[in-house]
Amino acid sequence: GEMSKKNEGTSAEKQTTVGETKTEKKLNTVSSYKYSYAGFNPQIINIDANSSLSSILLNGTHVLPEGYEPTLAEAVKGSGKYLDYRVAPYYQAMYDKALEDGIELTPVSGYRSYDLQVELFEDQIQLEIDNNGLDKTKATVAAATEVMIPGGSEHNAGLAMDICSLSESFEDTDEAAWLRENAADFGFILRYPKDAKSRAITKVIYEPWHYRFVGVEAAKDITAKGVTLEEYLNAN
Ligand code: ZN
Repeated sequence: GEMSKKNEGTSAEKQTTVGETKTEKKLNTVSSYKYSYAGFNPQIINIDANSSLSSILLNGTHVLPEGYEPTLAEAVKGSGKYLDYRVAPYYQAMYDKALEDGIELTPVSGYRSYDLQVELFEDQIQLEIDNNGLDKTKATVAAATEVMIPGGSEHNAGLAMDICSLSESFEDTDEAAWLRENAADFGFILRYPKDAKSRAITKVIYEPWHYRFVGVEAAKDITAKGVTLEEYLNAN
């Protein structure tokens, strides 16, 4: 069950810090990714408490180590929604400033654990099997177009918040307009833009509600340039 999975993750980390070479670590980690049977062999990123938040790239090909658990803090006092403790104060500041402008940036979905991402992904695989009659491999490939593979979601790192709504029509609201105008000042970027070029790079649908923390400097730079995080990190 969940606990044994968690223990495996912990012991693997201990082993690597005790003595394996970096090459062995990488090969072991990649080959043990749970969904490699369907062709998913993502790079397991190195991340720890000192990692620069602007340089963390998570997507369908770059994932967190299994069992990664950030230190959390509540995004908005009393909301019950959490972000990495280094990010939460920026969200609270953004929330407070928006409120002064008559805008409520309700946090809808922040941190979710690696284990929960596994559950969501497994549920989607089962849906694809049940509804579309796919075999497990094809169902896994199909599931990944709907749900981010475990460890690849910025929510698993506590770096992203879904704000107000999970509907594309959110883009037409005053809240979405406020975010487009002001989020970078608080270190957040619109992570999955609407234009076709961006979508081809992120391989994720337009999500006007999903904002990712990268720090104020990077957020302003990324927003001014109109690039995706993938392009920004590869160019820097
Ligand atoms: Zn999201």
